[in-house]
Amino acid sequence: MPQKYKLEYIWLDGYKPVPNLRGKTLIKEFPDFPTLDQLPYWGFDGSSTQQAEGHSSDCALKPVAIFPDPARTNGALVMCEVMMPDKVTPHPSNARATILDDEGAWFGFEQEYFLYQDGRPLGFPEQGFPAPQGTYYTSVGYGNVGHLARGIVDEHLDLCLAAGINHEGINAEVAKGQWEFQIFGKGSKRAADEVWMARYLLYRLCEKHKVDVEIHCKPIKGDWNGSGMHANFSTNYMRETGGKEYFEALMSAFEKEKMEHIAVYGPDNHLRLTGLHETAAIDKFSYGVADRGASIRIPHSFMENNYRGYLEDRRPNSQGDPYQIASRILKTISTVPLP
Ligand code: ADP
Ligand code: MN
Ligand code: MN
Ligand code: MN
Repeated sequence: MPQKYKLEYIWLDGYKPVPNLRGKTLIKEFPDFPTLDQLPYWGFDGSSTQQAEGHSSDCALKPVAIFPDPARTNGALVMCEVMMPDKVTPHPSNARATILDDEGAWFGFEQEYFLYQDGRPLGFPEQGFPAPQGTYYTSVGYGNVGHLARGIVDEHLDLCLAAGINHEGINAEVAKGQWEFQIFGKGSKRAADEVWMARYLLYRLCEKHKVDVEIHCKPIKGDWNGSGMHANFSTNYMRETGGKEYFEALMSAFEKEKMEHIAVYGPDNHLRLTGLHETAAIDKFSYGVADRGASIRIPHSFMENNYRGYLEDRRPNSQGDPYQIASRILKTISTVPLP
C-alpha cells in the first residue's frame, strides 16, 4: 500500500568558517521506502542561509544519500548537496562536490564533542571545576559521567545504527562531559556524509533533553582536553602497495601543503594544537609511529605491513567539516605520483 513518507532534506548552509545543518520536510507518497534515484530535487530560500541574495534567492537541493529516520514514522533523512538554480552547477558553499571520486578511498572519523547544559559541560558543578582530568576517559560511575550523559550517548548510538550509519564505536573522553564516536566509510564521501548525519541526529536528540552539543575545539580553557576529529584515511594504493618510498613522498606532500590543510581543519585550531594534550603544534608538521603528539600518527600495523595500510591525521578538529577535510586529504594525495 502506498504510504506518505516524511523526507527530511538536510543540507549545509553558507555560514563561515563552519556551515550549519539545515533541514525541512517534504511529504511525498511512495509504494515502498524510496531509493535515492526516486527522490526529486527540491529547493530553498538561499537568502536566509547566506547562500543567495534576496533578489534571486533560489538554491536547489540534490539528494545524495538517504537513511531511514528511526525517530519518525515513515521518515527518511536525505542528505543533499546545494546546487545553483540550474541544478547542475555546485553552489560555491558545496564542499562535497569538491571531493575527488574514489571508491577505493576509505575514511574513519573520530568525532569528539561535549554535552552542555546551563552553559557548562554535563557533570560540571555550578561553580568552579570538577576534579582534574584523569579518571574520566572511558569511565563509569556518577562521579565521572554525571547522570544525564550516558542516556543521551546510548540513545544517539541506537538512532545512528538504526539509520544505517556505520559507527565503529563510542567512548567517554578525557575531559568531563566529553564523548567520542567513530564512523568508518568506504568511498571518498561516505564517512563524511555519515558524520554530518550523525551530528544531525545528535543535535535533534538533544533538543528534548535541553542539552547543547558543543563541538568547538577548545570550549574550556586551562588544563582540559580540546576536541578533535582525527581523520584516518587510506587509498587502494596505500593498502595494497604502499612502501617506504611512497610513504615518504606522501609525507613531504603533506608537509608542503600543511597550511592548506590547517585552513580547512576547523576554526580556532591554534587553541587546541598547542603541543600539549596529545596534539602537535599548529605550525609544525610531524609524523611518528604510535605518536599521539605528532600531526600524523602511523599505526603499528602500518609498519608491520611494510608501510601499507591507513594513516591518522590528528589535526582536524571537532568543528571541522568532514567534506572539506576529505577533499583536502585526497587532493594532496593526488599530487603524489604513483611509481
Ligand atoms: P584511536 O583513538 O586510537 O585513534 P579509534 O579506534 O578511535 O583509534 O579510531 C581508529 C579509526 O581508524 C577508526 O575510525 C577506523 O574506522 C579507522 N580505520 C581503520 N582502518 C582504516 C583504513 N584502512 N582506512 C581508513 N580508516 C581506517
Ligand atoms: Mn579514538
Ligand atoms: Mn579521542
Ligand atoms: Mn585517534
